[in-house]
Amino acid sequence: MSTVYTAGTVLLLTILGLLSGTLVNYLADVLPHTRRFSLPRCLVCGQEQAISAFGLQIFRYQNCGHRRPIRVILVLAYGVITALWIWFAPPSRVNPWLGYLLLAYFGLVAAIDLEHRLILHPVSLAGVVLVGGAGLLRHGILSTLLGGAAGFAIMLGLYYFGVIFIRWLKHRRGVSGDEIALGFGDVNLAGVIGLLLGWPGIIPGLFLAILLGGLGGILILLWMWLRKSYHPLAAMPYGPYLIAAAIYLFFR
Ligand SMILES: [Zn+2]
Repeated sequence: MSTVYTAGTVLLLTILGLLSGTLVNYLADVLPHTRRFSLPRCLVCGQEQAISAFGLQIFRYQNCGHRRPIRVILVLAYGVITALWIWFAPPSRVNPWLGYLLLAYFGLVAAIDLEHRLILHPVSLAGVVLVGGAGLLRHGILSTLLGGAAGFAIMLGLYYFGVIFIRWLKHRRGVSGDEIALGFGDVNLAGVIGLLLGWPGIIPGLFLAILLGGLGGILILLWMWLRKSYHPLAAMPYGPYLIAAAIYLFFR
């Protein structure tokens, strides 16, 4: 492979990564607020931004000058790094284009979940089509549907267990509030990931996600302890752990 060819490929992949990152950033900006493909708005003051220049507004919004969140840079970097990775070290069992689409989709879900502790229903529905399609190609219809049903049902069980556990904890401590351990979006996402990993692949998938979540939880507790800002009932976004487990197992 000649140096010129490699440099050209890197340049094209970087452009692809920036474009897909810009799209993910746009969706992560508007979907949690308007639930539709509306004009981008400043997340600080709400002023509408011209769509033509939106992709170039990395650090600040053009019209009002407010800062954009750090997520914008992280998502752009994620878009470029995953494009380079899937081209230069393609996973053996996944079509690179489909793989890249899956990575962009999961990037969007994780970005919204980390920012808003929210997994939107329309985004989950889009996942049923895209991610479910990838599952069908890999496992066939029966395993895909069984995996989706199992992921949804197991997470639903954990969801209700979390609701009851938190209620008991609050009763013991005599505090009130409406925190929940898992969001219902996590249940939907576990169903989507079940479609991707199929049956029985969803079982190790959920185990890995719970393991990663536990490790992440310990790190977050340590961090809160170091900063002396311990919140015993702080909600934790579970989506990124589910996604990390799914990506590892599907692309392996
Ligand atoms: Zn503004």
